[in-house]
Amino acid sequence: MQYKSYSLQNFKTIPQIKNLTGQQIMDIEVVGSVLPFRVNEYVVENLIDWDNVPEDPAFISSFPHRHMLLEKDYEQMRALIEAGASDESIKRSADEIRLGLNPHPAGQIEYNTPLYKGKKLLGIQHKYSQTLLIFPEQGQSCHSFCTFCFRWPQFAHMDEYKIATPENGLIHQYISDHPEITDVLITGGDPLIMKTEILAGYIEPLLSRELPHVRNIRIGTRALSWWPYRFLTDDDADDLLNLFGKIHRSGKHLALMANFVNPVELETEAVKEAITRVQKAGAIIRTQAPLLKNINASPEVWTEMWKKQVSLNCIPYYMFVARDTGAKHFFSVPLVEAWQIYRQAYQSVSGICRTVRGPSMSCMPGKVQVLGVTRIGGEKVFALNMIQARNPDWALRPFFAAYDETATWFDDLKPAFGEDRFFFSDELDGMLESGETWTGYE
Ligand code: SF4
Repeated sequence: MQYKSYSLQNFKTIPQIKNLTGQQIMDIEVVGSVLPFRVNEYVVENLIDWDNVPEDPAFISSFPHRHMLLEKDYEQMRALIEAGASDESIKRSADEIRLGLNPHPAGQIEYNTPLYKGKKLLGIQHKYSQTLLIFPEQGQSCHSFCTFCFRWPQFAHMDEYKIATPENGLIHQYISDHPEITDVLITGGDPLIMKTEILAGYIEPLLSRELPHVRNIRIGTRALSWWPYRFLTDDDADDLLNLFGKIHRSGKHLALMANFVNPVELETEAVKEAITRVQKAGAIIRTQAPLLKNINASPEVWTEMWKKQVSLNCIPYYMFVARDTGAKHFFSVPLVEAWQIYRQAYQSVSGICRTVRGPSMSCMPGKVQVLGVTRIGGEKVFALNMIQARNPDWALRPFFAAYDETATWFDDLKPAFGEDRFFFSDELDGMLESGETWTGYE
């Protein structure tokens, strides 16, 4: 299959669009002027059930929907478009709306970008001592854009919010100077949008003898869901698999951190074949996804996904809580409901699927997991836990927040038992103030 994509400029040429109402088409134009919109033909032809539109989860994952914008923002943009406003004023208004959508949650740029030799290493994030994230500048795009993406500013022409780095020796020098780094995660956007040759420029230096401490190379991708032909028929698909084989033969662990939000993404012949090819090349596929209202907010969906993933030899890894950014009001699920969905799904699968962890929030102190709701001394509380933390000592220390049935994110929670602070709050404040934002900071 040849890759072909659609965006705001040409989506009306998709034959199935004729079946949408005029209002639905207008909604796509209005919302797509603010939030990134791109869909490819594989998604249109193989994942979306057009008889089930607009409720279809694959449609909602890829096409803008009216309620992804707040009513006032929707009306502001609609009025401009209907009045035939210039591209410039549409962009100005879109930027204004975008700034109200918390474009960089959890201090990603301010607090996770390391200083090296007196300079900020832009496009790198080092939040947990063992793991370094690299955002290659050529990888800040995707085969289709997800409407729920928490990195949406990467594609929304907001350059000051973009995280991206060119391949350069500095990254590898930084890693060389940080022997605590065991894992390098290449992320995006979708790094597999890059040609293999460019991806290799980031990965091959990690295989060198000078970096023996780098044991695990991870690639965060949604290509298996959105464009499995990346591993099958793209010009350099075989080169990509050869690169995977090279990593494997070097003795390093290669993991594809694959995002699947909907069981249909695991069902086509193309994705099954792509998974097999990736695995034969020596990569392990670990699966993760956010829990999203209007897409996958039911235990049955997660049960089905985890079972299908295991039957395809993939390892269920994370269920994330939707981050507090972008169209959060459209996708977010209260934490209590997220825990119930996770729990019910977990209870209905065997131990082999229970490698999954969740519901987990990637927030300022670390990855906070909702363990559940319980009562202690008569008070109803959330039991929480950090799976990862800026200070590793915070991990796996249960702590409690006052029960709040409307809370959808960690920042909505207050400590239980009338306390002012969580056990880590003072230390976290000190870290952020000093700029030493993880333990082991140099
Ligand atoms: S593929 Fe990943 S980075 Fe790209 S839009 Fe989807 S969630 Fe965001």
